[in-house]
Amino acid sequence: MDRQDFSDTISRLLSDESLEWFPRASLTFPGDTVGDGQKVAVVDLDGQLFQLLENPYLEPAWQVADLASQLQDVLVEMAPSLRLESVWPACVAHQHTHPLTATVRDGRAVWECPATHETVRPI
Ligand SMILES: [Zn+2]
Repeated sequence: MDRQDFSDTISRLLSDESLEWFPRASLTFPGDTVGDGQKVAVVDLDGQLFQLLENPYLEPAWQVADLASQLQDVLVEMAPSLRLESVWPACVAHQHTHPLTATVRDGRAVWECPATHETVRPI
């Protein structure tokens, strides 16, 4: 994943329409690198900074799914302190009882329902 792809992926994740409930997410330093050349994005969520790190050992589609999972972890962690829904992205088919899972199907990063393994939408 090159710098532009990395930056685009992070931007796409943060502009996910289901994140409308999270109005103050912003992205800084997209595509910077840390020690061993890993790309890193610093996401500012309501004044708290979190790092999303590239895993260069994964296939490109899995890198996208991995970044989505990292953002999911951050949002779940942040949700209680902001009194926000902690299930992101929620599985609409199952009344928001569980979050979707980031995975890869047919070479594309997708969100899928963990109960039925149906693809809900691309990441
Ligand atoms: Zn579901």
